[in-house]
Amino acid sequence: MYAASAAVAAAPRHIRLTSHSGGFGALPIHWGAASAAERGPIVGTTTSRAHRNVIGTHSGSYSVYRALAVAAGALKREHKADLTNTSPTDVIGPYPQWSEPGRIVSLDPWGAIVADVFSAELAAGYDIRPTLAVTKAHVILPEVIEALQTGRLKADGKFLTDGGAAMVTKVAVEPAWYLPEVAKRFGCSETDLRRTLFEETGGMYPELVTRSDLEVFLPPIGGQTLYIFGNPRDLANPQVELTARIHDECNGSDVFGSDICTCRPYLTHAIEECIRGAQRGGVGLIAYSRKEGRALGEVTKFLVYNARKRQVGGDTADQYFARTECVAGVQDMRFQELMPDVFHWLGITKIHRLVSMSNMKFDAITGSGIEIGERVNIPDDLIPADAKVEMDAKKAAGYFTPGHVPDANELKQAKGRGLSE
Ligand SMILES: [Zn+2]
Repeated sequence: MYAASAAVAAAPRHIRLTSHSGGFGALPIHWGAASAAERGPIVGTTTSRAHRNVIGTHSGSYSVYRALAVAAGALKREHKADLTNTSPTDVIGPYPQWSEPGRIVSLDPWGAIVADVFSAELAAGYDIRPTLAVTKAHVILPEVIEALQTGRLKADGKFLTDGGAAMVTKVAVEPAWYLPEVAKRFGCSETDLRRTLFEETGGMYPELVTRSDLEVFLPPIGGQTLYIFGNPRDLANPQVELTARIHDECNGSDVFGSDICTCRPYLTHAIEECIRGAQRGGVGLIAYSRKEGRALGEVTKFLVYNARKRQVGGDTADQYFARTECVAGVQDMRFQELMPDVFHWLGITKIHRLVSMSNMKFDAITGSGIEIGERVNIPDDLIPADAKVEMDAKKAAGYFTPGHVPDANELKQAKGRGLSE
């Protein structure tokens, strides 16, 4: 028998509704304030409910696993993280963007250094958790090793070892949404945003509609991981050449090498460009967002694959977006509106080389005030045969390409494999 029964027995038998205030001891948040002290900490603890000053809790989608761990008796709900030796390996910021109105609305710029800037509050008993973490890593990819062997890349022992390991600084980012400004980005009222988030999650967070005084929401979604090639401080210097790719998760291609799309080859090409950029005296950045299958999720994505390959006439580029829309109701739910926040957190004002053909990403980044120099497309020889459908459809829809844009006749030709091939 699990320890679960003991944990459940010890838990209060009544449900504590959070839909009324009475938060004695909760510290105020002044989003966008110039210093951490003025801004105040984000407190999403479930232990001391009176201390909470946000809606939702930490760890994004993993907050549900945390609840399971508590339910199973494996985790004490009053556990507080011991933050000894967890501080960032590299200092990021603070940068002017951190306090510019409306510049950063979906992450906590102070989230990596809470143990430092909120040490007094931590000592006073507030359970304040980092929402960002910065560490170092060696990244070893077969494509990079192949680039070394064929001479496209050279080892220097600093950015790239003889064995093909790229030295990186990596940053994990959990979302923290300041609802008034998030609503503005999406062109809706804060009231409508709160109500829709409440209703479309099946009523998961009543405080969205009952606690208008709580303006920060820790949403139960995936975050981002940043991989920095070179000195992270150089990201904020527009004089230093920055090569960057913002990549939306595609587990099937990124990890498992599925050939229906260009995700992994484009990602590894971007990593190669980042390493080369760092070796030229620049800096490279991959921002990896957990937005699987255009943020529609893998089930929807696989259904679309079947619909594409079974439709009359086969898998054609002219029906590429239509098939997604039939299943999902929209072509894309990634909504790049919040994506540039992480660039502003890093102090970026100019991206010299953007390794992306997406017009949506380009528009979101430039629209947020960041200058983009050159755009780098995926080389044709890296596009898998079965991914030609996607690539042609995207080019025809306005994605950046320095090459040929297919016409209506070309788009009608079946290029993708059948399901049993
Ligand atoms: Zn993909």
